[in-house]
Amino acid sequence: MAPTDDNNNIHMLQDIDRAHHLHPFTDPQALKTAPPFVVESAEGCMIQGQGMSLLDAMAGLGCVNIGYGRTEMAQTAAKAMEELSFYHSFAAITHPAAAKLADKLAALAPGNLNKVFFANSGSEANETALKLIQYYWLRKGKPNKTIILSRDFSYHGSTLATSALNGLTAMHEPFGIKTKGHVEHVMSPFWYRFGGDMTEEAFAEHAAKAIEDKILEIGPGRIAAFVGEPIQGTLGAIMPPKGYWPKVAEICRKYDVLLLVDEVVTGMGRTGNWFAQETYGFEADLMSLAKGLSSGYQPISALMLSDSFAEVVEAESAVLQHGFTTSGHPVAAAVALKNIEILERENLIGRIKSEIGPYFKQALETLLDHPLVGEVRVEGLIAAVELTKNKVTREQYPYEWGVCQHVANAALMQRLIVRPAGNVLVMCPPFTISSSEIDQLVNGLSSALDQTY
Ligand code: PLP
Repeated sequence: MAPTDDNNNIHMLQDIDRAHHLHPFTDPQALKTAPPFVVESAEGCMIQGQGMSLLDAMAGLGCVNIGYGRTEMAQTAAKAMEELSFYHSFAAITHPAAAKLADKLAALAPGNLNKVFFANSGSEANETALKLIQYYWLRKGKPNKTIILSRDFSYHGSTLATSALNGLTAMHEPFGIKTKGHVEHVMSPFWYRFGGDMTEEAFAEHAAKAIEDKILEIGPGRIAAFVGEPIQGTLGAIMPPKGYWPKVAEICRKYDVLLLVDEVVTGMGRTGNWFAQETYGFEADLMSLAKGLSSGYQPISALMLSDSFAEVVEAESAVLQHGFTTSGHPVAAAVALKNIEILERENLIGRIKSEIGPYFKQALETLLDHPLVGEVRVEGLIAAVELTKNKVTREQYPYEWGVCQHVANAALMQRLIVRPAGNVLVMCPPFTISSSEIDQLVNGLSSALDQTY
């Protein structure tokens, strides 16, 4: 759509949108009083709409890692579309971009994650994982291994099955989704909130033990898999305490429980390594990727399987009765390959590790002096500013007070986009963010905090 040129046009768009567009994760009643914001174009880290230019410290929804508006990406998509606008990958068909992308991902991925199943969204990648996990255990002759362990504060998707994994009952109950007997939730490794007097290492041990205790309580013979985001992104950028992930991986191995790592946000470089498994030193049996796989330029996701997992899935002759029409879409795959080429060519991930990540961390940590700020958590280019009513007791503001939303709104008035999640402001900007944009973000946040305090 060409940028709108006058206010009438904006109002018209808002009206037709409100009449006919059911928005994801939006209160339809709220839309009646506050019209939707119309975003018209974007470039670099900036989005434009309704005559304003805003610094997007969320990279959309944590996906536009290479920044907005790259001509090279548009040209790649156009060329790919001209060459092969669509063909499927069912029944032993492939096309160059899908084959090359699978090969590239296998080369980049840690451990033995060498096989790729393509889908369109993070939810579909995780849904595929849940189905394949069941398939795996049935093929291994262990039909009772059906229960998935997930965690409080997790987010894994919006399909029926992935919603059940999510760590907020607000995501199950309104839809009548029953988790009992399918999914068991264990504690989040949220050191600031649940760590009490424990050291980081002791808390890591404690939170990992909660998983082991749950496995023993239910019986290892019934647990199919443990699923987790390396950093619990959506619900507060909750960083794992030091040593947590290697312990979790060890527990999973010990009890023959598959480990599904959801790298939908952390994968493709956000923590300063290609994958957060490298940042935290562990290897999974399955890994889901989406968002940063194409930097959001096309919908595409991937589920990666370890050699030993894939071996079981592929062992006997049988058609895998699973797939999506647009699995491995040739245009989306070409765009994802170009995205990876840009990440490599511009050393954007190395830059996070050596330059902009440390700058981001040091700049955000200046906010710790503010009376409202209890903790600042940063890994690479994902960060949380945790608000508290009392720095000593870490008392939380009741969510219904909307304190965090107030800060986010005040930031918006300064043309900054951050994401409120409970009592946390979450940020995950494009990898191309400059140090002066970070300064602008932190100065703006500081005055937004002042306006709220
Ligand atoms: N997993 C994680 C960790 C996510 O953050 C998200 C989305 O935010 C998903 C899965 C779901 O991805 P999608 O919205 O592409 O279905």
